[in-house]
Amino acid sequence: MISLQELNALPAPQFVAALAGVFERSPWVAERVASARPFASVPQLHAAMCAAVGSASLDEQLALIRGHPELAGRAAIRGELTPESTREQQGAGLAACSPQEFARLQELNAAYSRKFGFPFVLAVKGHTRASVLEALQQRVGHGLEEERATALREIGRIARFRLAELLADPLGVRIIAMAQHLARFSEDSQGLTCTYLTPAHRATAAEIRDFMLSAGLEVSIDAVGNVVGRWSGADDDGGTLVTGSHYDTVVNAGQFDGRLGILLPIAVVADLRHAGLRLPFTLTVIAFAEEEGVRFKSAFLGSRALTGTFDTAALDSVDAGGTSLRQVLEDAGLDPAAIPGAALDPRTLLGFVEVHIEQGPVLLEAGAPVGVVTSIAGSVRGVITLVGLSGHAGTVPMGSRRDAAAAAAEIVLAVERRCSGTPGLVGTVGQLHVPGGAMNVIPGHCQLSIDIRADLDEVRKAAFADVMADVERICAARGVSFQWQRALETASVPCSARLQRRWAASIGRAAGIAEPRHLPSGAGHDAMVMAGMTEMGMLFVRCGNGGISHHPAESLTAEDADVAARVFADFLLSYA
Ligand SMILES: [Zn+2]
Repeated sequence: MISLQELNALPAPQFVAALAGVFERSPWVAERVASARPFASVPQLHAAMCAAVGSASLDEQLALIRGHPELAGRAAIRGELTPESTREQQGAGLAACSPQEFARLQELNAAYSRKFGFPFVLAVKGHTRASVLEALQQRVGHGLEEERATALREIGRIARFRLAELLADPLGVRIIAMAQHLARFSEDSQGLTCTYLTPAHRATAAEIRDFMLSAGLEVSIDAVGNVVGRWSGADDDGGTLVTGSHYDTVVNAGQFDGRLGILLPIAVVADLRHAGLRLPFTLTVIAFAEEEGVRFKSAFLGSRALTGTFDTAALDSVDAGGTSLRQVLEDAGLDPAAIPGAALDPRTLLGFVEVHIEQGPVLLEAGAPVGVVTSIAGSVRGVITLVGLSGHAGTVPMGSRRDAAAAAAEIVLAVERRCSGTPGLVGTVGQLHVPGGAMNVIPGHCQLSIDIRADLDEVRKAAFADVMADVERICAARGVSFQWQRALETASVPCSARLQRRWAASIGRAAGIAEPRHLPSGAGHDAMVMAGMTEMGMLFVRCGNGGISHHPAESLTAEDADVAARVFADFLLSYA
């Protein structure tokens, strides 16, 4: 392996020679991007090479496709393949075809090349002999142009896998580059929106699958669309440590929420494998398909399926377009009936850990790149409806009014006052509404929401009780009646004390921070669902820009991603 930095510094002919094996028998691809150096990351180099292929002439593209060998074809048998192709074909088990499989492959290969005039090209990583045959059979049915595009896409995937074998770039740089790459798959052209099972979401899953394959994980996609990558341990009975986060996003999201917790473990696994290391236990990296609850009313669909707590009644819920969850799953080729079978077996689990950006300013203000999460806050959320008496804004004297909006204003300040000054406690009035309000009418009705969260349940409950006592007092004094309708109440989910100690020790060893910051999470995460099944721990990574998240300005530096990756690697290596 060479580093990207070294590659950037090579004279052009050596640069081309170093990348000779990436695009089969086509050195012109590397030649055309040599002058675009330096590349900031391997994904950026890959994108430039694919763009060079995309803008090449039709003849050059065809020559590139024809430069590839047939899969398990005569050249393979005669031993005439490039070293890269030989390795890949062996990896898919194509060297071990049965006579029947070999005959079928030969027959389909012949039909294919008769029809298109070029050999069948497939990135075989992650394929089995059966799935290779299935893909070949399906693609023989394509039209010429569609198939040429498919072949070039597969050549791009092969190049990504070959670059991953050839080149190393710093972990942090690679993680950021992968997140930027995923952000290109969005429902709108302006920012990043990737909600459950939309075409952008499906494309993101396919890219994550390729990243996992590049890193050497075995990959499957389960019945709700979770992408599950597995790195078998040296010991079959060593149990399984699970890590991961979500790849769906809110509308107009940032690039790192959720995705960091997928891409960071993938990058770390690739590095550990390249270093020839193997863990004594199995590591499963999960890209959860749904956490945010944007498209359907239910959230955490991915982690609920994996913990066996998926509520099948949710299958009948509909999105804004009126399509049911069941239909959306079926349209994506997923089987709703198979969801209960996606659950993990708790007896094999060593624990669940999630790496996530903090989504707040605490680490930023403390000057710390990473921190140990103590618990995920519990919350109470609901709506207060206030009823006073409406009247003429000009004729009712101030002392005779029963103004519902003025009562609401006092309540907003009461929430703010009660929830200030206690560490871990926050209170918010996010909605404030005067139904049918007019400029010249005293508000007779008002609605407001209250959201109170704390890392300790007793703190949350005490704050909520005090706020409701304030509401009662304020309303009585103003002759306004009220009704509280609770929408949600969840208990806080503590992180395992043992895993907190392990994270702290890893931060000490890998980041040189002897007394790492401990902090609660005010936001919900997949980890709180996974905690119902196994021991749970979380690592927070510092966000820039004041800690903003769920926003395009969400940011993470390559340096912080690198620190977090080294902490994660230490955590794995010391976990046995
Ligand atoms: Zn998240």
